[in-house]
Amino acid sequence: MAEVIDLNLRHKHQRKKLENQAKQRAAAVASALSCGLCPRRCAHCGMAIETPVIPPPEAPYPFCGPCLEEYQAFRRLENGQGEPEAYWHSPRWAEMWRYWLKHMKACDEFRSSAEFLRLMREHQEQS
Ligand SMILES: [Zn+2]
Repeated sequence: MAEVIDLNLRHKHQRKKLENQAKQRAAAVASALSCGLCPRRCAHCGMAIETPVIPPPEAPYPFCGPCLEEYQAFRRLENGQGEPEAYWHSPRWAEMWRYWLKHMKACDEFRSSAEFLRLMREHQEQS
């Protein structure tokens, strides 16, 4: 009988541990994606944008000045306009921009999904 009680207790502790781990993972996902895009912070490098400027219509995210120039250089190269403007404007640099833009788009889509909205609602109820 004591063994049965001990086993039940162990299962209860194990279940509680798994629930806590799941809560921590949910909190990590919620906090990583909850703030979305801040117009006062560069979406690419994270630097604070001191003097907010209205981004040009072709810029999909708020950028600081240097990141906006890099993004525009990437777009020009992608459109076959001009030559690389800096030695680091290599195919890997262009690939980095392509994947970064895909990553940002995937984050936007996940943020607007029913699953993420449910996660945010449950996360806010707990805090
Ligand atoms: Zn930046």
